[in-house]
Amino acid sequence: AVLVGRRVQNRRKWRRAVEVLREFEEGCATSIGRLGQVVDAMAVEMHAGLASDGGSKLKMLLTFIDNLPDGNAKGTYYALDLGGTNFRVLRVRLGGKGSMIISHQVEYHPIPQELMSGTSEDLFDYIAMTLKQFVERADDGSEQKADEKKELGFTFSFPVRQMSVSSGILVKWTKGFSVEDAVGKDIAQCLEEAMTKAGLNMQVAALQVNDIVGTLALCHYYDKDTVAAVIIGTGTNACYVERTDAIIKCQGLLKNSGGTVVNMEWGNFWSSHLPRTSYDIALDDESPNSNDQGFEKMISGMYLGEITRRVLYRMAQESDIFGDGAYNLSIRFILRTPSMAAMHEDDSPDLREVRRILTETLQVPHVSLRARRLIVRVCDIVTRRAARLAAAGIVGILKKIGRDGSGVASGRAKGTPRRTVVAIEGALYVNYSMFREYLNEAVVEILGEEAAQNVVLRVSEDGSGIGAALLAAAHSSNR
Ligand code: BGC
Ligand code: MG
Repeated sequence: AVLVGRRVQNRRKWRRAVEVLREFEEGCATSIGRLGQVVDAMAVEMHAGLASDGGSKLKMLLTFIDNLPDGNAKGTYYALDLGGTNFRVLRVRLGGKGSMIISHQVEYHPIPQELMSGTSEDLFDYIAMTLKQFVERADDGSEQKADEKKELGFTFSFPVRQMSVSSGILVKWTKGFSVEDAVGKDIAQCLEEAMTKAGLNMQVAALQVNDIVGTLALCHYYDKDTVAAVIIGTGTNACYVERTDAIIKCQGLLKNSGGTVVNMEWGNFWSSHLPRTSYDIALDDESPNSNDQGFEKMISGMYLGEITRRVLYRMAQESDIFGDGAYNLSIRFILRTPSMAAMHEDDSPDLREVRRILTETLQVPHVSLRARRLIVRVCDIVTRRAARLAAAGIVGILKKIGRDGSGVASGRAKGTPRRTVVAIEGALYVNYSMFREYLNEAVVEILGEEAAQNVVLRVSEDGSGIGAALLAAAHSSNR
């Protein structure tokens, strides 16, 4: 009788775990109809954000970049990239037509945890000192003399309201930074002050760009058909080239009559058509920026592991299928997205990698193969939803600029398709093949096979570094 009782209990707990999974799966559904609604919502919000400031959750920030780099620039340029867990300093040598990028050097520096929530002065002093040391090292035996004017492209991957190509005010922090006194300040000026203080022996044309603009710039350097860029890494964002006359909110402000790059800050996109679950709501509630970055919280690397962890924790609470070692599943952000991706992509028959991560990273040992399979299912649901929503976002941009093959907005006859390149960067797309496959597949599914043939998603590596240097070159006063 005891045995029978245990079996019944076992079956019941499985049923609960599977129910949690089913419910979650339904909540995350991304049918083609639903994706179509997201596409439309993206295009509509883009219009609204261009019409007036505050017209949409999409900020559609002006970049004042109207000159994307081509292969002609020559000389040595520096770049500084601040935007995530690391910051980087770069030095890029451009050879002009034919030789393009001759060489580049990069150095990575972790940002000490305490500087991520300290004062802006401390943060920028640290960055300026590091940059100074890098410049001095690079000066040894280089072809550029120490006293020669050096130009810097500065990538700052947070929402900034630009005032010109080289200045802009921080709107808010994302991705775990909270240097509160920097909000509302001119970031390029903070950097310049710190550089002066550090005695940095270089004159700086502190061109300030968001990383997404660097991604677009780098891809455009190699391929002139590039019209938009997307980053899906720790955070997520997109930008694209907009007709200047379509930017209603800035009529008269922009000189160039052609196109201007618009930083969408699409991480903050929101629509009631997004498939949102109770886990997303709880994650948002407990985040330092709740009601913000809603799209980002469903698709970017900072959050996918955490969404997964929340679902697993619910399963653990309701079923004990993970045994009694499941305590660690209650710890927020303990499951990082790279570990989650590794579990998802484990193709060993006995899910060895899943077991390893459960044991070593999460300290949840002795999970049965059957339960490990459930975990892989959860990872799959989270990633598939993320990738498909990102795909819908991309098609939304194409729709807005008349490149989705519908031939309406472009005013072109259906028979004259144009090649359209979208630059794409970020660890989720570049390193996580299941994510990439789901995204690519969804783009074709939404656009249709025929229209999709004209759309190229092109991986752009290190736009936020090299791209910024290229932009410095394109906007250089030495030109
Ligand atoms: C920021 C964007 C940035 C993106 C990718 C987001 O959290 O708001 O400015 O481009 O992350 O780094
Ligand atoms: Mg970056």
